[in-house]
Amino acid sequence: MAIIDSRHHALIQALLARGPLLEKEVKFIFKTVCENNTDVSERAFHEYIGRINKELDFVQFEARAGRNQYDGEIYYGVVNKVADEHAKLGTQYSLPQIAFFKAVIETILQDQSGKGQISNIEALNIRLDSQVKQESQGDPGQVPSAFKQFSMAQKDKTLEDLLKNRWLCATEEGKIGLGIRAFLELRSLFKNLDVPFCDVCNEAGIKAELCQNEECSVRMHDYCLKRKFQRPQVARVCPSCGVNWDCSGLNTEVPDLNEAMPYQDTLRIPHVAKRQRSSRGLRH
Ligand SMILES: [Zn+2]
Ligand SMILES: [Zn+2]
Repeated sequence: MAIIDSRHHALIQALLARGPLLEKEVKFIFKTVCENNTDVSERAFHEYIGRINKELDFVQFEARAGRNQYDGEIYYGVVNKVADEHAKLGTQYSLPQIAFFKAVIETILQDQSGKGQISNIEALNIRLDSQVKQESQGDPGQVPSAFKQFSMAQKDKTLEDLLKNRWLCATEEGKIGLGIRAFLELRSLFKNLDVPFCDVCNEAGIKAELCQNEECSVRMHDYCLKRKFQRPQVARVCPSCGVNWDCSGLNTEVPDLNEAMPYQDTLRIPHVAKRQRSSRGLRH
């Protein structure tokens, strides 16, 4: 008996053709292709993804879930498990473009405000010679001419391309942030660059809320904050320094915990039914 069939191929094809998809779209595809099968439970969905991954594993690919820190939504994408970022980007971008992209990511990750964004002007002003020097630890005199001659127009075109291909995204403030493909495929870069972790889920806190105590380094994703402080027994204070945590900037909508399934173990939250906002919900 074949391990996977046309039901599995339908999702692989959709992910390859359309790029990362929202978890709800992936579940919709799953339910559609399983039309005559009564079992469309969460367990059956994870079995379905598991079977796809067994097959993709032969070619070192994986259907991976990851959260977009800007909109808080979970997406699925097919990712290359072994290649480094040069191999992942190399078929589409030139070496100077990849060096530029890495420099943009590094600058975004160093955003001390926790907003995980840089302006278009900041991105265009990134110098590639310092990037090359940093990587090779060599003499800046040896910067290849293709890097030296990488013009403003080429940077602008590269940014446009990276945005279109979802390696970068436009943030709510109209600046440049990381795209969903970067979240799914470039996790190792976040580790190498020592991005501070979210105190709740232990993932890199790129777009995160910072503790109001300037001497405290705690940060949490806003979706992690919502879940944490939604629990009535949890005081709305920083878990490290105890300073009051201002929740006024948070969207007061109670998150749907069912949608957080893939992260349930990490977050150690009970699987409870969706409920309406009550007096215990976050205050304005
Ligand atoms: Zn988190
Ligand atoms: Zn603190």
